[in-house]
Formats: sequence, structure tokens, C-alpha cells
Amino acid sequence: MSTSLQAEVNPIALPNTMGLPCVASAVTVFRDRAQLPQLQDSFDRHGMPLVLAGASNVILPERMDRPVVLMRNTGMEVLEPRADAWLIDVAAGHNWHQWVCESLARGWPGLENLALIPGSVGAAPIQNIGAYGLELAQRVAGVEIWDFETGQSRWLQTPDCRFGYRDSVFKQAAGGHWLVLNVRFALPKDWQPVLGYPDLAPLRQRWQTRAASVSAQMVFDHVVAVRQAKLPDPTVEPNVGSFFKNPVVSSELYERLKQTHPHLVAYRQIDGQFKLAAGWLIDQCGFKGKRFGAVAVHDRQALVLVNTGGARMADVLRAANAIAQAVADRFGVHLQMEPVCVS
Ligand SMILES: Cc1cc2nc3c(=O)[nH]c(=O)nc-3n(C[C@H](O)[C@H](O)[C@H](O)COP(=O)(O)OP(=O)(O)OC[C@H]3O[C@@H](n4cnc5c(N)ncnc54)[C@H](O)[C@@H]3O)c2cc1C
Repeated sequence: MSTSLQAEVNPIALPNTMGLPCVASAVTVFRDRAQLPQLQDSFDRHGMPLVLAGASNVILPERMDRPVVLMRNTGMEVLEPRADAWLIDVAAGHNWHQWVCESLARGWPGLENLALIPGSVGAAPIQNIGAYGLELAQRVAGVEIWDFETGQSRWLQTPDCRFGYRDSVFKQAAGGHWLVLNVRFALPKDWQPVLGYPDLAPLRQRWQTRAASVSAQMVFDHVVAVRQAKLPDPTVEPNVGSFFKNPVVSSELYERLKQTHPHLVAYRQIDGQFKLAAGWLIDQCGFKGKRFGAVAVHDRQALVLVNTGGARMADVLRAANAIAQAVADRFGVHLQMEPVCVS
């Protein structure tokens, strides 16, 4: 495939891990920054494109009339290291899990808790991906963007990214006209395993009793095994991973809920608020395994909605609204969707 602009003409089906039908009228496969002037020209004429990479965190409509850019630029550049960290720039279209494997193989630990998350490097800062006690924000030193409003690229420092729980500036109005080109990683030279998450208890015990006997590869292997056992494979049961964010509530609401629901699953945050397990709330409403037409709540993971065959965007949103309403009625807690609902 050449690196020149690949513009195809309609209609083009857009594969996505939720298995929703979606046809686009114009798709550009982005492989090289030499294509940026042409993308800018398209922006000036047609407005902001829909940017997609792995399409593992989107709910797509049946028709996409906006131009679509598919991120497929790959590769990495190793920079002069800092005293405390290895610095590596990785292209946005690079496969995330492949990059995690490569970083470990090159002797740069630090991303092992985020193994096996589907999708791309460039999408990772968008919702500040997180898993097993680690968030991307803890390993990022900067993000290079193309700003369609100015027609220029620039680097954002980590504070500019305004990372939060499944949130960042890229999901807010300020980032609405940006394309992520590269992510700069700072991987700690003085690596310590992150073992606070309940599923990592066996490794934590080992670490506490026999110091230095836990390697990054062991954390990686454990995370991969847990994920494979717990999460439905989207190629078999189409899904987008967690469908709702874990709601963060005040300590007052947490205390009230705890009185009426003593088994409430919640994690105290550093600011004193509590993060509730959305899957537990949904399970308590009796939704595990429940079908809403062609959409089902997974029978082992209440946080995962599965397309059982032939579902469309409207079916997914109907199921999501019914679940969120039931949780609000029972607990007074508002669930927010985690995937991006594309319009
Ligand atoms: C089985 C499964 C498990 C998952 N587990 C986790 C998990 O543990 N933790 C977690 O955080 N997430 C998880 N996810 C969600 C998903 O994998 C991540 O959000 C991932 O980062 C999405 O990458 P993607 O390339 O597929 O992004 P896409 O779905 O293609 O895009 C997602 C959003 O990012 C935007 N975007 C993508 N690339 C760019 C770019 N280069 N520039 C600007 N905008 C861009 C898109 O416009 C869209 O708004 C899971 C998903 C599945 C299916």
C-alpha cells in the first residue's frame, strides 16, 4: 500500500468491535504525515472528519456522511532518555497491545497492566485508558496533535491533556478539532510493579513476602490470563468492553447507599469520593444475561453489552437507556456511557 492519500468512493462498510452496520461515503487511510495537507484541505471543505482506529470504543450510526479518517500510521522513535525514564514516541495507528509487547521486549517495563486492551496507541489518550490499577496518564510525557483549526501540529504536555477517569481534553470541546499523531511515553527506569488491584492479589502477596520476585512479564502474563478468562472476545461476541463508566459519588451518597445496600462494591478515591462498581449496580437490578432484542447484557460481565446478531445503534442505545434508568430508579446514581456515541 502506498503512503499517498487513499480516498475511496462510497459506500464503504466500517468494521467495529460492536458489530454494528455502518457505511461511510468517503474513507481516507492515514499512513503518513505527508497526507496532512490533503486532510487539511478536506477539513476546510467538509469540516471535521470522524477519526477511527480500532473502532473498539464507538457506537456507530448506520450511515456516516462525514469523511472518515482511519488511523494506520505505525512505528516508534526512541528518544534520548531522561534520568528517570525511557522516552519513546509511538505513532497513533500502532496497535496498542503490540506496543505493550514491544516495550516489554525492549526492556522498558511500565505498561504491563494495560495489556490486551484492544485498539490503537492514538486512541489511548482520548479516554485515558485504564485497567488493573494503572491509567495511561501515569506513563505519558506528551501527545502530538494536528490542529485542524490552525492547520499546524504541536505537542501537548501531560497537564495540557487534562487526564481524568476515562476522560481527557480530547473528549472536550477544546480537543474537538484535533487528530492525535504520536504519543510520547515515559517508562520508569526505577520500575515498581503496580499490584493494588484486587485481581492482582496473588502477585501482590508474592511481592510483599519475597521482594523483587515479581517481574513486569509476570504482571503482563497475569493480566492477559485474567482478561482472557473474564472478558468476552469481541470477535466471538461483539462488544465495546465496559459499556458504562464506574460512577464516582460523594461520601454522603456512598454512606447512605451503604446503609441500605451493605454489600455495595466501592473504592475510595484520593479526594474522598467513592467510585462505585457499575457492573455490581447493574447486576443488582437483575440484568445479567437479560436480552433487549438483539442486544444482551453479558451473562458473566454485567458491564458488557453484547450484539447477539443484527443489532443497530438504536437497539444498543435503547438497551443502555433502560439499564441506566433502572439503576437511577433503584440507587439514585446516574450511569454514563463509556464508548463514544458517534453522530
Ligand atoms: C473487549 C474490550 C475490552 C476493553 N477493555 C478496556 C480497558 O480495560 N480499559 C479501557 O480504558 N478501555 C477498554 N476498552 C475500550 C477500547 O479498547 C479503548 O478505548 C481503546 O483505546 C480504543 O481504541 P481504538 O483504536 O479502537 O479507538 P476507536 O474506537 O477507533 O476510537 C475511539 C475514540 O477515539 C477517537 N480517536 C481514535 N484515534 C484517534 C486519533 N488518532 N486522533 C483523534 N481521535 C482519535 C475516535 O474518534 C473515537 O472518539 C475495551 C474494548 C473492548 C472491545
